Amino acid sequence: MSCIFCKIIAGEIPANKIYEDEKVLAFYDIDAKAPVHFLIIPKEHITSAAEITPANSSIVAYIFELAAKLAKELKLENGFRIVNNCGVEGGQTVEHLHFHVLAGRLLAWPPG
Ligand code: AMP
Repeated sequence: MSCIFCKIIAGEIPANKIYEDEKVLAFYDIDAKAPVHFLIIPKEHITSAAEITPANSSIVAYIFELAAKLAKELKLENGFRIVNNCGVEGGQTVEHLHFHVLAGRLLAWPPG
C-alpha cells in the first residue's frame, strides 16, 4: 500500500485524530494553513473528487454532515471553509479523496 492516507487509516503512520468511525477518519493537517485545519477522508480509497460516481457519492454527504458536526463541537461559530483540491491544477498532492476544513481566521477569496 503506497497511499499515505491509507497508511494513516491502517495505523501505520500516526495522526492527530479528531473523529473515526467505520466509514471516515478526521485528523489535523500536519501543515496547518489556518489556526484550525483538519482533513476528513473516507476509509475507502477513492483517488479524487473526479472519481465520485453514483456508487460512492453517499460518502460525500456523510463527510459534509460530519464537517458540520465537528464545526459545532469545535465551536467554529464564526465560519469555516471546506476545500477539495482535485488533480494537478486543482492543487491535489495526496491522491486519496480528502476535504480540508479550515477556520480560525478570515480566509481570502478567491484562492491563489
Ligand atoms: P492536498 O494538497 O489538497 O492534496 O492536501 C493534502 C494535505 O495533506 C496537505 O495539506 C498536507 O499538509 C496534508 N498531509 C500530508 N501528509 C500528512 C500527514 N501525515 N498527516 C496529516 N496531514 C498530512
